[in-house]
Amino acid sequence: MNGSLAEREKHGGTMDLIDIKSMTPQQIERFCAGELGQRPGRGLRTAALLFKERIVSFEEMTGLNRGLREQLRARCSISQIRVDQTEQSDDGTAKLLYRLGDGNAIEGVLIPGPHRLTLCLSTQVGCASGCRFCLTGGSGLIRNLTASEIVNQLFAAEGHAGGRAITNLVLMGTGEPLSNYDAVRAFVETATDGNGLGFSPKRVTISTCGLAPQIERLADDGVSASLAVSLNATTDEVRDRIMPVNRVYPLERLLQAIRYYCESSGKTVTIEYVLFGGVNDDPADARRLVELLDGLPCMVNLLLFNPFPGSDLLRPGEERLRVFRDMLVSAGIIAVVRKSRGRDISAACGQLRATAAAAPPKTS
Ligand code: SF4
Repeated sequence: MNGSLAEREKHGGTMDLIDIKSMTPQQIERFCAGELGQRPGRGLRTAALLFKERIVSFEEMTGLNRGLREQLRARCSISQIRVDQTEQSDDGTAKLLYRLGDGNAIEGVLIPGPHRLTLCLSTQVGCASGCRFCLTGGSGLIRNLTASEIVNQLFAAEGHAGGRAITNLVLMGTGEPLSNYDAVRAFVETATDGNGLGFSPKRVTISTCGLAPQIERLADDGVSASLAVSLNATTDEVRDRIMPVNRVYPLERLLQAIRYYCESSGKTVTIEYVLFGGVNDDPADARRLVELLDGLPCMVNLLLFNPFPGSDLLRPGEERLRVFRDMLVSAGIIAVVRKSRGRDISAACGQLRATAAAAPPKTS
């Protein structure tokens, strides 16, 4: 739980309600056993009703004793967010615009595949990272999302999934997940807990632009999600230009953190590499990428840039991509070409910009 309970409750002399979905199942258990004096196991039962059964009011939690229901009602709230607008792509991808309680908006994307349905989740309103190839990066950071706002994106999206179960979660929407570390860590715990959302850790992916210390922290904290790192360049000179984070954590420092992550966690990592025409798509880049990734347990996802109005970066041709991929594969690297989905509705990678559609924050 972020901050002490006393801090959460003290606000202008009145007691604030705790947004219960921002707590992980284990935190709810400790809260119920510790602060509410309930028997062990009742908190986990409460978590299961919230996260698995999707019950939206304490009154309806008839599987709990009346005393606990009343305690929860007095101390906690169950938040929800709604989908305000949807856009459907020709390829089946759906872009969702969620309205948050304070009037801000964020976007998410539902991406159907033959055997999976992936939901792309946002972790911040806006983003401070300023990647040049990303519309979100141009809007700056407005605020972090809470863990419950990340969970609630899943619940709200389920109503737009055409009756299919969402099988994979990727934290690749608006925001840099590792800049909102505590909420993202809590979300992953809830997502992968058997009394939470019950996803396999392999089906929950955190994607980062390269915050080296937080990558190491993920390993130290044993955060049970997969990791993808958006690399996109093989020299500091180029990466500095397209991803300002590189000026703080240059390639050598970033790769040191990724190696630490892989060694400590025993996991492989996904390297995301978007090709920009004339910037990072040369055979010399492919050769440098092979050297940089030497010995790293990883796979590489290759994508072509999705241009947007006002962007000065170019989309290279398919042939450039094929040559690049073949060079990686011949060097023994697993490299997969990913097709961007939802380009016609601006739902492809780097095309989300929910704050442009946001209503002004409420003043009351
Ligand atoms: Fe932020 Fe990700 Fe866009 Fe970079 S690519 S500006 S980290 S949302």
